[in-house]
Amino acid sequence: MLSYQCHDCAQTHGLHEGVWRCPCGGAFDLAGAPSFASFEGVDSSQWSLWRYRHALPSVGEGDHGSQVTLGEGCTPVVRTGEGVLVKLDFAMPTLSFKDRGSALLVSAAKGLGVKHLVADSSGNAGTSIAAYAASAGIHAEVFVPSSTSPGKVAQLDAYGAHVCVVEGTRAETAQAAIARVTQSGAFYASHVYSPFFHHGVKTFAFECFEQLDGTLPNAILLPAGNGTLLIGASIGFNELAAAGLVRQVPRLYAIQADRCAPLASARGVAVGESAKTEAEGIAIAEPPRLAQMLEVVDASGGDVLTVSEGEIQRARSDLLRLGLYVEPTAAVAYAAIERLGKDRPESILVPLTGAGLKSPAKAPL
Ligand SMILES: [Zn+2]
Repeated sequence: MLSYQCHDCAQTHGLHEGVWRCPCGGAFDLAGAPSFASFEGVDSSQWSLWRYRHALPSVGEGDHGSQVTLGEGCTPVVRTGEGVLVKLDFAMPTLSFKDRGSALLVSAAKGLGVKHLVADSSGNAGTSIAAYAASAGIHAEVFVPSSTSPGKVAQLDAYGAHVCVVEGTRAETAQAAIARVTQSGAFYASHVYSPFFHHGVKTFAFECFEQLDGTLPNAILLPAGNGTLLIGASIGFNELAAAGLVRQVPRLYAIQADRCAPLASARGVAVGESAKTEAEGIAIAEPPRLAQMLEVVDASGGDVLTVSEGEIQRARSDLLRLGLYVEPTAAVAYAAIERLGKDRPESILVPLTGAGLKSPAKAPL
C-alpha cells in the first residue's frame, strides 16, 4: 500500500491524512510504490509514459486507479554532436517536461477525490498542473512570482486556472500558496513536495533506456532548481539498476546559473553575485530538497556546475542553429557541456526541458 515517508526521519503518513510535509519539516518520499521490473512489463501499445504503468503508483478505484493523461512522454532523442544527445522533453502537451510529473500528481489528486488544488511555480510546473487539473475537472489556484514570463501567465489563464501573482520572491510565492492551503483546506499540488511528481518524472529514465536500446549514456546534464528532474530521473535510473537491467547509473550533473547557485554554494564553491538570471525556471535560492539533491548527485558520481548568463545565451543560439528553439532555462545544461573539460565522458545526454515560445527571445540570438 502506498504511503508518504519522510525523507529525513522515515515517519510514514497515509495519503488521506491531508499532509504534504512531515511534522519534522522533512519532505516526503513515496513508500510502497511499484518499480520498473523488466522490458516485458512495458505496455508497447501505449505511446505515452503510461507504457510504464506497471512501474507507476496509482490511487483510486479500479486496477489502474484514476488516470489523467494528455498523451505526455515518449519524447524524441536527437544527436547534436560527437557523443552528445539531447532529449526534446519540451515536446509535451504544455511544452515542458513538467507534464511527466503533473500527469501522476493530478491522477493521484483525482483518485483522492480532490476538487480544489493549489500550486505554486516559477511558471512551467504551474502551467502544467493547471492543464491537467482542467482535464480532471479540478479547480486550480496557481501562485506565481511577478517575474514570471507573460507567456506562461497567459497560458495559465487560458487553462482556466485562478492565477495569483505574488509581488515577491519565489520563496514568498510558495509561502503565499501554503497559507492559502492552510486557510482553504485545498490539496497542495506541489511539484516540490509531492513524491508523485517525482514518480512521473522517473519515466524520463525509462525512456532513455528504451530509446538507447537498453543502454544508458555515461553522463546526464540536468538544469537544477527545485530538483524535480534530478530526483525523478535518479529514482528511475536506480530502479533500472535494482532490476539488474543496467550495471551503472549515469553520472548526474546538476547545472545552475551562477547568479542563483545554492547547490554550488552549499559545496563551498565561489559563485557569482546573486542577481536575476534569464533562467527563471531554476532561479530557486533555497530549494527545500537541497540536501537530497546533493545526495543524488554524489551517489551517481556526478557533480554540480554553474554557467554564466553569456554561456546560457550562447548555448541557446547554438541550439537555435540546429533548429531547436528552447527557453533560457532549457539551455543551461547544454551550456555546461563545455565545462566538463578533460573529464568529459564519452556519451552525454542533455534534456531540453522547456520550449522557446514560453519565453521568446527579446533580441535576435
Ligand atoms: Zn520527518
